[in-house]
Formats: sequence, structure tokens, C-alpha cells
Amino acid sequence: MSSLAKRRGGRPDSALLVCLTLAAAFAGTRAADAQVPSAAGAPVRVADFASELGAVLSLDPLLGTVSLTRDGDRAAFKPGSPWHLLGDRPVRLTPSSSGPGGPLLDGTTAAYLSAWFEERSTERLSRFRVAAVLIDPGHGGKDPGAVGEYGSGKDKRKILEKDLALATALQVRDALVERFPDRRIMLSREADTYPSLEERVEMANAVELRPNEAIIYVSIHANASFNRNASGFEVWYLNPDYRRTLVESGTPGVDDEIAPIVNVMMEEEYTTESVLLARSIVERLERNIGASSRNRGIRAEEWFVVRNARMPSVLVEMGFVTNEAEARLLADPAHLRSISDAVYNGIVDFIDYFENRKGTSAP
Ligand SMILES: [Zn+2]
Repeated sequence: MSSLAKRRGGRPDSALLVCLTLAAAFAGTRAADAQVPSAAGAPVRVADFASELGAVLSLDPLLGTVSLTRDGDRAAFKPGSPWHLLGDRPVRLTPSSSGPGGPLLDGTTAAYLSAWFEERSTERLSRFRVAAVLIDPGHGGKDPGAVGEYGSGKDKRKILEKDLALATALQVRDALVERFPDRRIMLSREADTYPSLEERVEMANAVELRPNEAIIYVSIHANASFNRNASGFEVWYLNPDYRRTLVESGTPGVDDEIAPIVNVMMEEEYTTESVLLARSIVERLERNIGASSRNRGIRAEEWFVVRNARMPSVLVEMGFVTNEAEARLLADPAHLRSISDAVYNGIVDFIDYFENRKGTSAP
């Protein structure tokens, strides 16, 4: 949960520290500063350039190289050499010289570097990223969810939806944490407790995101029916005909006339992503358990948990506990593991697609 917050806060602090250190280091050369021309296109001290850019400056005294790093983007060069390494691309620019107050960047080179760093930032901001995943095991605590039975006589066994949902969710969470150590992977409950539906959704809505970041919400359930023959898995998403009020009228800074339009746009956005997420998970379930369980496909509904989540969100029904054969299957840890693997892989497929195909305005 804290890795992003740490990273957010980390760069400006360390950049500031380096700038202060450099300012102190160069304080003894103030007299020489006056000789540095300040007209546009004139040479600029690398230290000043770095501080204006908000980049961390580091000098390698052994190799004689200078490097500027901002948000993971790095430009490196050696005073006197025309070669500048921008990311992993070498570019020939007017070389910098060694001035009395540290290396001096040629004016045109400085302008080129500034533009390069800006371009990189813009590109990063336009690239969407799934920063968080909230896995929500349905029911829990006082609420067992659907209750099923299999076997007879003294071999009769009872299974509870809340237990199946939690076991699956924990496995999905663990796999996601291992795969994405730098993203926030959360569970709405980790034990046999009962967060209310409002609390579950609020947990997801409360996650702080940057403008280009998204959170996805996956609720895990098992099904029940009066028809004991009903069986199979399915994944639900919000019915596109249902219009949520995502931005409430009267929200400060939001024009009342604009709010409904914004809502429809967000709604459509989330519906597209939710269908995509639902499809990714269903495809993986088909691959993993399609031979033993019926694929009921993707369905649209107005589930509360899905309806109030302001993000791509789906609800997975793993199978029917009221069908004796399926109840037996769901009670088998190997079957449940196949379901967890499928949900995990479906989420990974979605993230791959979401981050690599969408919003990439970069060439
Ligand atoms: Zn349920």
C-alpha cells in the first residue's frame, strides 16, 4: 500500500537534497557565476539546469560523466564529448564544457535536453496504469452466503460460499502480490469477517490514484439456485443501461450541467473496461475448468457491489453450491486452485491489454 506513496514522495525530496548539496558545493564559486552569460541560448551551469528541471544530478568523478535523472528518465554525457545518452539512445549534441562552477551545458543542448525530459513526462502521463487491484471475497462473518451440501448419511458435507470466496481470494491476492510487487493489491477482508457492502466499495473508492491510474475491483462469489440442476461459472459486469451517478450534483468545482455528461462518459469508460475484464476472466476459467464446469458466459446486472464501484469492476460466480456435483468440485482444493489461477491470469491479461494497447499516444 505504501510503495507508491513512498515513490511519490521520494523523488522531490532526494532531488531537493541533491540540489541543496550542489548549491552548497558551488557556493564558493559565486564570483565565477557573474561571468556566466544569462541570455537565452547561452551556456547554463548543469547544476542550475538540473534544479530548474527538477532532476537529480550526479557526477561520476572516475568516469567524468554527468547524469540527470527525473522520474526514472536519465540523460548522461561527458563534458567535451558530443555524445549524449538519452535513455538508451545516443544523440550527438554540442558538447558541454568544464566551467569554474562545474560543467556548462551549451544553450542548444540544454534546450534539447529539456524538451526530451518533457516529452518523456507527457508520454508517461498519457499511459494508463492499473495501480491497484481490490479483491473482494463475498459475504463473511455473520453472512455465510449460499450454503450447499453434498454426500449423504455420515459423509454429508456442508460448504459455505463465504469460505470458498475467501480461499480463492487469498490465493488470487498472493499470486498478484508476487507478480506485481509495486502495485497495491488489496483484499476487502482477509478473514471470516463481514464488511458491509458499502464498506467494501468505499475501500476501493478511497484508494488515491493519479489521473492516469486505475484500480480494478473483482468480487468473488459462488452461486445458488432452487433448481438443483443449475451449474457452471459466470462473470457479471454492470448493465450498461443502468446509469450511475458517479459525480454527484453539487460537487464543488463541478458544473451541475456537466455532471451528468461526465457521468455518462465515465460510465461508458468503465463499462468497456469491465466487459474486457469479465471476458479475460471467463476465457481463463473456460481454459482451466471448462472441462468439468459449464461456461455460462458474461452477464450484465445491477449488482450493488459492482454498481457503486467507480472503476472497472466484475463479479465472479465460481459455480453453484446447490448443485451436488458442483458442490463436490468446489470443495476440492485442486478445483478451487484452478479457479484462483484463472481469476489471477484473467486479471493479468486485462492489465497487459489495458496498459499496452490503450492510451499509448507515444509513437
Ligand atoms: Zn454471493
